[in-house]
Amino acid sequence: MKNFIYEALATRVIFGAGEIRKVQSELKNISVKRALVISTPGQEELAIKISSLLGDLCTGIHAKAVQHVPMETVEKSVKLVSELNIDSLVPVGGGSSIGLAKAIALYTSLPIVAIPTTYAGSEMTPIWGITENGIKKTGKDVVVKPKSVIYDPELSVNLPVRVSVTSGLNAMAHCVEGLYAENTNPIISLLAEEGIRALHSSLPSILVDKNDVVARSKALYGCWLAGTVLGSVGMALHHKLCHVLGGSYNLPHADTHSVILPYALWYNAAYAPDAVQAIARSLGTEKDAVAEALFDLNTSLGGPTSLAKIGMKETDLDQAAELATKNAYYNPRSIDQQSIRQLLEYAFKGKRPE
Ligand code: NAD
Repeated sequence: MKNFIYEALATRVIFGAGEIRKVQSELKNISVKRALVISTPGQEELAIKISSLLGDLCTGIHAKAVQHVPMETVEKSVKLVSELNIDSLVPVGGGSSIGLAKAIALYTSLPIVAIPTTYAGSEMTPIWGITENGIKKTGKDVVVKPKSVIYDPELSVNLPVRVSVTSGLNAMAHCVEGLYAENTNPIISLLAEEGIRALHSSLPSILVDKNDVVARSKALYGCWLAGTVLGSVGMALHHKLCHVLGGSYNLPHADTHSVILPYALWYNAAYAPDAVQAIARSLGTEKDAVAEALFDLNTSLGGPTSLAKIGMKETDLDQAAELATKNAYYNPRSIDQQSIRQLLEYAFKGKRPE
């Protein structure tokens, strides 16, 4: 067994259908009295519901979260927090609401009780991101990691099927790369393998019936594990490619993850035998067919399978390969521009990896 370091980043997790009713007691647990409920404009109705569950522990609703956490929104929000004498943040929604709460916490150190309703997994990580002048800065600080997270699968039934699929595959990508991370460890490997298993068995049922609360519970459970993996160990080639494609060509975040995952695994498989074995076990497939299995899973779920279909231009592939090779993250297989160009070409065309 390889030497390792394992550091548990404490967050209290309350999990289960209907558990949202415990939000008030979660705030009482951390002895706060003046919460700000944060959501995107589209989820204001849910924010109002949370506010009524909180009763007089809620001081305000701030339905101003938008994608990519613009600095302007952060500055206005920090001002509001100070004016209202807020002592805690309750983001409800996806990575955008939780991202805004984390950015406020970065400047104010206020505690967060998060209520995720998507599969992004930000609630389990100490990673923050703020966009200023078109550039997204990210960093890690334990002050932004929620003290408590309430996972209530009933709140995710309205998540559209397509978003559920792509953001579920995005979560699966955290698990896959966690298994071959440079600093992985036996605990994270267990979580990652179980995360893939839970998502693999639940996403097809969500496709059949998006209101299936049992499948929603299992998917959310997988996403909790995936978020923990993402927050604990480093990510590799897959995440580097997705950052380049999203950041430089504006491709949609979760869709890009769905397309790239089989190809990144195809590229790395021969260099990460333990990870491949764990992935094969969790997908119930042969170990020399894991990349194909992920491609087939994505296809069967109706997810996007080629970069061409999600807006990439063929003329940008050379530059993308160059950018992805610069300041590369750790990866089990060495990275060179020519091989990455080939990977991107397969992904562009949606060629089944073999
Ligand atoms: P999001 O929060 O922007 O949500 C997408 C849309 O879905 C929003 O309009 C939202 O109002 C709506 N929505 C949310 N929950 C819903 C529900 N249950 N039913 C119907 N609609 C719902 O996007 P996301 O995919 O959750 O998060 C993606 C963002 O999170 C990206 O910007 C990504 O960079 C970030 N992220 C950060 C981390 C981290 O550790 N910091 C981790 C993962 C993702």
